[in-house]
Amino acid sequence: MHSLENIIRKHALRNAFDYGKTSPNSIIGKIIHEFADAKKDVKGAMEIAQKICKEVNKMGKAQIEEELKNYSFEEKKEEEKKGIELEGATEGKVITRFPPEPSGYLHIGHAKAAFIDYEAAKKYKGKFLLRFDDTNPEKEKEEFVLAIQKDLKWLGIVPDEVLFASDYMREIYSHAHTLIKKGKAYICTCASEEMKKARMEGKECACRKRNGKENTLLFEKMTAGEMEEGEAAIRFRGEMNSQNTAMRDPTLMRMVKAPHYRQANKYSAWPSYDFEGAIMDSIGGITHAMRTKEYELRDELYFAILDALSLRKPALIEFSRLQIKGMPVSKRLITPLIEEGKVEGYDDFRLPTLRGLARRGILPRAIKEFVLSFGISKVESEPNLEKLLSENKKLIDKTSPRLFFAREPVKIEVKNAPQKEALLRNHPTEKMGERKVKAGNVFYIPKKDALELKAGSTFRLKGLYNVKVEEVQKGKIICTYEGDELIDCPKIQWVCEGFLNCRILIPHELFIGEKFNEENLTIEEGYCEGECAKLKIGAIVQFERYGFARLDKISKELLTFIYISS
Ligand code: ATP
Ligand code: MG
Repeated sequence: MHSLENIIRKHALRNAFDYGKTSPNSIIGKIIHEFADAKKDVKGAMEIAQKICKEVNKMGKAQIEEELKNYSFEEKKEEEKKGIELEGATEGKVITRFPPEPSGYLHIGHAKAAFIDYEAAKKYKGKFLLRFDDTNPEKEKEEFVLAIQKDLKWLGIVPDEVLFASDYMREIYSHAHTLIKKGKAYICTCASEEMKKARMEGKECACRKRNGKENTLLFEKMTAGEMEEGEAAIRFRGEMNSQNTAMRDPTLMRMVKAPHYRQANKYSAWPSYDFEGAIMDSIGGITHAMRTKEYELRDELYFAILDALSLRKPALIEFSRLQIKGMPVSKRLITPLIEEGKVEGYDDFRLPTLRGLARRGILPRAIKEFVLSFGISKVESEPNLEKLLSENKKLIDKTSPRLFFAREPVKIEVKNAPQKEALLRNHPTEKMGERKVKAGNVFYIPKKDALELKAGSTFRLKGLYNVKVEEVQKGKIICTYEGDELIDCPKIQWVCEGFLNCRILIPHELFIGEKFNEENLTIEEGYCEGECAKLKIGAIVQFERYGFARLDKISKELLTFIYISS
């Protein structure tokens, strides 16, 4: 079982299952980790991997899943137990922060950032802060502040402190003033288009030569709100010919006249992300500031600002942005879908928002396992949603009652049906009790199964008794009772009198490549057993031989479920 071939095969299968495809390069690290001898002949191992990956890439998803059951992945758990490791961290001294802008609801990418920050602080017995980076009045709302706190709580993330950057505007102004006094920043009154052009061309503008007195005067006018939007900006004195465009005299503060949800009209000069982030991390005592990789080019500026102010510098750590195939894991992509009415709202179950995932029956634990499985590596990957769903399935499988649902029901009439009560187990392995279903002589089974039946075929009404088909009529199938004992024949779930109308919403990918997928939802209808009347909204069940679903809505005539996974 532990031959090199076997280990390669296992990782190839897992990789293909998680990402849709596998290649030797993406699994060689894991192979060497588990089979140290492979290091002696990496080329040989790669050749075998090449062959195996090719085979695996030809396999279907279900086939891969089936074969995967033969392998165990203990070594991965070992890796996960190590948790988030930070270089140069001292126990008891680590402070991290999660800094959302309250301009939308959290999505699963935010969950990755938040869990990394939270788990790192926990590992080193440090502190974890939730800091709202709310210095952009135009986009921010109280509604989002409340939702973010609620969603983090749902994930099980409890901050030691909650701060608002906008409460620190006086400090931010004072640091801006210091930079001006030191000649490290100046007021630029160029129009934004001009500024942009000069920046692209690496040219300095005349404002750079403005004297100290004039800069101070303009600074005071800005902070007093006596200038209009676009009239003036504070710029950092960087290097206009730097290779790194982020260093070409970036804007530190600008005028924004819109009222702020928390500070009302108290301020109208607001800091840029670069300025606010660096100051808040430093004065907030953050030891390890983590953010996504797209900010990497801005690291130089972050440190230059702190150097210019002689402020303490946190360690900056970058990790890859989480992306999921077919899913808009970004506020920038989610917000327009909502505004254009392409989805119903922030909690639409097709979205990767935490609210959406919750409605789709994804448990917080599954989200945690999934996002932390990538660690703080910078390696870009685009896993399938399947990886999250299979993490989720491990959890809900143990806790979901089994019930019967007949999709597109077909009527079965059993002549000479005995008076019987079916005793159905609510779960095959867990102690969840049984339910009694009084059976008459009319049943409904799924159309898919009914299509397989013809006169003479025998099948078992699952958990009840066997029947034999006498005649397939239009709209119903006439059967006769054929005894109780378990025999080798198809076992079909059924519902009988007392059934409920049921609708199952099946979400699909919102994007295919870059393109919006108009067919992002299918609806399946049928009857579910009367027992379902006891379920409450939010209940997760497994409809036997169909899949897991979460009860989303109850109305008098109809139960609406959202499909989770097979
Ligand atoms: P979006 O692209 O969704 O608008 P954002 O970075 O503008 O994201 P913020 O509210 O500023 O949204 O994000 C707070 C934190 O979450 C940041 O540190 C950011 O790096 C992190 N984050 C946002 N999206 C992702 C993602 N897809 N994967 C990992 N981390 C993310
Ligand atoms: Mg941001």
